[in-house]
Amino acid sequence: MVSSSTTEHILELLRQVPDPEIPTINLVELGVVRRVEEVNGQLKVIITPTYTGCPAKQLFVDLIREQLTASGYPDVAIEMQLYPVWSTDWLSEETKTKLLKTGISPPVAQNAPVVCPHCGSKETKVVSQFGATPCQALYTCSSCREPFSYFKCH
Ligand SMILES: [Zn+2]
Repeated sequence: MVSSSTTEHILELLRQVPDPEIPTINLVELGVVRRVEEVNGQLKVIITPTYTGCPAKQLFVDLIREQLTASGYPDVAIEMQLYPVWSTDWLSEETKTKLLKTGISPPVAQNAPVVCPHCGSKETKVVSQFGATPCQALYTCSSCREPFSYFKCH
């Protein structure tokens, strides 16, 4: 018999798994881990990759599997749910603030200016659509002239 405290415990364990690309953010904060549920005694972790072409997709599964196995939950199923598609709207304000402190400009609505994480200027321009990872674009700030990454998935 699985109690709701077990699913809560698993969620807690997954909060300790950092995103491979942005280690200051964990997989639950990032919204990759959607929920933990129990169906007919089978525990399941439902995940949504940050975007379908994200090369970290399999890595998320491996990291979750590793953490759960190490914590005594080797039988938990990991299910990929592609719809609704991951959206940066799932990031909380707190998570966006953390991104900013990491030097990564958090996602903004389409056509809104990308803000420089160093000085807060909106005078920024894209240098390359592909930054440190495919999920990030490389920008430069016209005010402080510092380059920075923009988290661009959707
Ligand atoms: Zn700046």
